[in-house]
Amino acid sequence: MRVFASPQVYIQGFAAFQTELLCLQRLGKKALIVTDAFVMQMVGEQLVENLNRVEIESAAVLVDDSSQATFFAKTKEMIQTANYQFIIALGGGKAMDLGKMVANNNHLPVAVLPTSAATDAATSRISVIYDEAGNFVRYNFYAKNPEIVLVDTKIIFAAPQEMLVAGFADGIATYIEARSVWEDQGVNIAGAKPTLAALSLAKTCHDVLIRDIKSALRAQKDGIINAAFENVVESNILLSGLGFENGGLSLAHSFHNVIMGDCQLSVRGSHGQIVAVGLLLQLLIEKRRTEYEDYRQLFTSLKLPTTLPELNLNLSQTMIRNLAKKILLTKQAGNHLGKQVDEAKISTALTELA
Ligand SMILES: [Zn+2]
Repeated sequence: MRVFASPQVYIQGFAAFQTELLCLQRLGKKALIVTDAFVMQMVGEQLVENLNRVEIESAAVLVDDSSQATFFAKTKEMIQTANYQFIIALGGGKAMDLGKMVANNNHLPVAVLPTSAATDAATSRISVIYDEAGNFVRYNFYAKNPEIVLVDTKIIFAAPQEMLVAGFADGIATYIEARSVWEDQGVNIAGAKPTLAALSLAKTCHDVLIRDIKSALRAQKDGIINAAFENVVESNILLSGLGFENGGLSLAHSFHNVIMGDCQLSVRGSHGQIVAVGLLLQLLIEKRRTEYEDYRQLFTSLKLPTTLPELNLNLSQTMIRNLAKKILLTKQAGNHLGKQVDEAKISTALTELA
C-alpha cells in the first residue's frame, strides 16, 4: 500500500504572522498557544495582539520540564474550562511536539507556527517517544497532520544562522534516507510503501538546498532577504517534512534517536547537527565513499560537525559496540535499515567517525 500524508495548508512569507492570520479564523475564535517562555517574549506577545486584530482571542501555556502526561493534564483542564477551539503550536521542536499532542488528544485542530527552520517537524503527524529512562521507544502517530502550517520568514531570518544550517543537514538527510528506503523497496515509518511524490519531494529538497544554501546564508549575513533564503526555508520545513514523513527514515535518524536517548552520553549538538553526523555514518555503511567525502567537506565549510568527538562523544570500543546494537534495534520502531546492515558494519563506520 502506498500512503502519502500532509498538512491541509502551508503558507510561507515575510511578516506572515502579521498579514496572514485571517486564515486561522476557520479553526475557531479562541486559541490556546503552546510555546516556551523565550519564544513567548520574542514573538508570542505580539502574536496575541495581532490575533486580537482578526478577532481571535488567545492565551498561552508555557512548556516546561514536566512530563508529557503532566502537561497534557494541565492543558486538558484549561481547554475544558475556557472552551478553546483550536491550538497554536508556536516555536521550536518541543512546543511543536507538545502542541500537536495536545490538539490531537483533545480532538482539536492545530496550526503550527515554527519560529526557526532548524527542523522539519512542523508539517508531520509524528513525534518521537522516549521512555522514562530516556531510551528511544517508538514514533507516535497522530490521527492527522496539522490543519495549517504558517511560516513567517521575517522571524526565521532573524534567528541565528546555525539554526538554518542545522535544518539544512536535516533536509539533506531526508533525501539520503528516503533514497535508501526506495532503493531497497522498503517501507516508511508508517509501514507503508513510499509514493513517487515522496521521493520526488525529498530529491527536490536536496537539490534546492545544495544550490541555494550559500546564497541564503550570505543574504542573512547582509540583512537582505532573497529568493534563495525563501527556498531554503521551504526546503527545510515543507519539502523535508513531507519527504521524511512519507519517504521514510533510515540510519541517520536511528543514530540521532539512539544517542539522544542514552543518558550516559552527554551529547552536545542540535537535532540537525547530530543528524549531520548520522548522515555521514549512513553513507559509510552504504559504502558511498565519494558522497561521504563530498558531504564531509560541505559540512565542514558550513561549520557542521562531521565526527563523534565534535558531538562530545568520546567512545570506547565497548561503547561503540553497544551503540551499534541499539542502532540495529531501531528497525523495530520503523526506521529502515538495509538487509545488509549488521552490528559489525555499524561498529566499523562508528569507529571511522570516532
Ligand atoms: Zn530530523
